[in-house]
Amino acid sequence: MTLTQKFSHQNYLKSIRMKKIQTNAPPKDAKKRKNMAPVICYPEDNLPNNNFTNLKKVRSKLSKTDEVIVPPRDAKTFEVPAGYFFRIVCLEGSQVGDLNLFNSDNIKEKFYSGKTRALHGSHLSTGDSLWSCFPYLRSMATITYDTLDWYGWDKFGGSVHDVIGTRCDPYTAKLLSNNDYDYCCHSNLIRALHKEKKFDVLDAENLIHDVLNVFMCTGFTKDTHQYFMKASPARKGDYLEFFAHTNLLGILSCCPGGDCSFKHSSDEVQCYPLAVQIYKPTLKLISFREKISKYRGNHGLS
Ligand SMILES: [Zn+2]
Repeated sequence: MTLTQKFSHQNYLKSIRMKKIQTNAPPKDAKKRKNMAPVICYPEDNLPNNNFTNLKKVRSKLSKTDEVIVPPRDAKTFEVPAGYFFRIVCLEGSQVGDLNLFNSDNIKEKFYSGKTRALHGSHLSTGDSLWSCFPYLRSMATITYDTLDWYGWDKFGGSVHDVIGTRCDPYTAKLLSNNDYDYCCHSNLIRALHKEKKFDVLDAENLIHDVLNVFMCTGFTKDTHQYFMKASPARKGDYLEFFAHTNLLGILSCCPGGDCSFKHSSDEVQCYPLAVQIYKPTLKLISFREKISKYRGNHGLS
C-alpha cells in the first residue's frame, strides 16, 4: 500500500458510518464491498395484475351502504363484502389509525405487513395491495385512492401510511416507561375483537397482527436509522380507500398518539374519531377475487 492509498483509506474509515459498538476494523476492500449496487428483492413488474385499471373505473360510481365511527383511544370492527370498497376517513382532525384485516370466511388468513413491505416498500399508497399471510399470500385489498398521495417523501425521509411500525402496545410502554397503559392500539384491537366478535381475550390477542399505520407519518432517521414519527399531514376530510378482494373483517384503532406529533401510549394528546365507510359499486366488476398461493406446499418433505 502506498502512502496515498493509506491516507485515503484512513479518510475513508473516518467518513463511514459505524455501528454503535464496533470491535472489528473494516477490511482493506471495505469501500468496494459497500459500493456494490443494490438489487430490488421483489420487482413489482413480476406481481400479478391486481385489476387496478378496472378498479379505477368502478370506483367512480359508488353508493355508501354502511358507516362505523371509531371513537378516540378505542377500536371498532367492520365487515366489507368482496367486491365492495371501504374508506378510512379523518372525521374531525388529524388522527392516526391502526388497521388489522382478516378474511372473514377464514380468520387464519390475515394481513401480512412484513411481506407487504417487502413487496411494495415501507409506505403504501394508490395501486398497492395488502397481502395475506402464508400459506395464502394473495391480495386481500388494493388501495384505490389516497388523498395524501401529494405528500410523497419529505426532507427527513418520512412518508405516510407505513408498514414499518408494528402498533403501539402496553408491553413496550411498560418496558420503556414503567407505565401500565390500557388504551394502546394493540389493546384497543383486542378489546374490539373480544367485545364485538366474542373472541376469548387470549385468542383475540393471538389474532392481532402488525398493522397498516393509516395517516401516520414515519420514517428512519438518516444518521442512526431509527424509526421516527412526526405530525401527520392528514386533515379533516382526508381518506384512504380500499377495494376488498375477499370478504373482509377489519378492525381499526384510533391511536392514543392522535396525530403522533408528540407521543403515544398515554392520555396526554388530543385524539379524534375516525370513520370507516363501506361502499357498493354500481358498475359491474367481472373478476376481482385473487387466488391463494399455488405453491405445492411440501417444503422439501416427501
Ligand atoms: Zn397506536
